[in-house]
Amino acid sequence: MLSGKVAVVTGAASGIGAAVVERFLHEGARVLAVDLTGQSLDRADLLAVEGDVADAETWRRIADMARTEFGRLDVLHSNASTVVRAPAHELSEDAWDRQLSVNLKATFLAVSACIGMLRESRGAVVLTSSVHAVVGIPWHPAYAAAKGGLVSLGRQLAVEYGPEVRVNTVLPGPILTPVWDGIGEEDRQRSVAATAAGRFGRPEEVAAAVTFLACAESSYVTGATLLVDGGWTAM
Ligand code: NAD
Repeated sequence: MLSGKVAVVTGAASGIGAAVVERFLHEGARVLAVDLTGQSLDRADLLAVEGDVADAETWRRIADMARTEFGRLDVLHSNASTVVRAPAHELSEDAWDRQLSVNLKATFLAVSACIGMLRESRGAVVLTSSVHAVVGIPWHPAYAAAKGGLVSLGRQLAVEYGPEVRVNTVLPGPILTPVWDGIGEEDRQRSVAATAAGRFGRPEEVAAAVTFLACAESSYVTGATLLVDGGWTAM
């Protein structure tokens, strides 16, 4: 599905990003895997990039590496995120700013740095938003604002860069990744019960949707959102 393509995946060391890397490699892509310094990305079959996606310098480096190592870029999956759980009045301004930077501004920086190559290859951008973009869930004010912003940004980028580049956004529901590690059993069960599927999703199930949106199978899909939420928003 991605044979001969070059892809950037952010948040690649864990959870959904790691599953996307695995699936992209399986589909024949060459992958630049981006994560924070110190996260484990030490493997021979990909190009690891250590850096903060909220920093413009990281994106200059990623674009340079794609150009010099591969001479092209076909797919950008903007997926890294950070979350601080607190009601709005208890959230520090720094925590607000950091979440907006990593979860929303990073996509602006990514597209700014990579759009030239993506246009040349008639490439695809896939953003990872969340059901938080469309339903209110307590204690996520900055995270939800950023994820809602991503849906608007994805639509906007699709309009601005069509017909050369397609841009789509996935909205995962509860997916069993390390982000759930610190969350108690009661909250986990409440989230699972909020889905029609009655279970957590697996990172591979989101990776399948991302792969569809990244490859030519979705050639007439752009500016779209795809819920991968086990029916959370249908309940
Ligand atoms: P995860 O915590 O398992 O992985 C996130 C990765 O992003 C980590 O490896 C982390 O080091 C990296 N990262 C964080 N900040 C970064 C930065 N500034 N620069 C570079 N890398 C950074 O999380 P996940 O559950 O796999 O989430 C992946 C995406 O899916 C996120 O956008 C998240 O908001 C979204 N999502 C997850 C769920 C869920 O239930 N897991 C639900 C909805 C949406």
